[in-house]
Amino acid sequence: MVSESGPGRFYISRKISAGDWVWDKLTCIVCSSEIYEFETKIFCPYCGVPSHREHILEWVKIKGTCPNCNRKLSIRDLTPGG
Ligand SMILES: [Zn+2]
Ligand SMILES: [Zn+2]
Repeated sequence: MVSESGPGRFYISRKISAGDWVWDKLTCIVCSSEIYEFETKIFCPYCGVPSHREHILEWVKIKGTCPNCNRKLSIRDLTPGG
């Protein structure tokens, strides 16, 4: 029987490493779940908070503000050129 419990597991859940580089996990401000590398993300232009593209667009459509810093946002602010 091998026990997988140990302090190392918590380290791994905080930081993900791939190749040479390490990045902090990003958490979507709207749905509070992890944003994976393959998912499209948008950062608030004011406070830099990360979120899933679809989630923040939906939020801004309804609320018109950033869920984190409450600055006024428009869809156009979040999708420049698109
Ligand atoms: Zn989300
Ligand atoms: Zn913000």
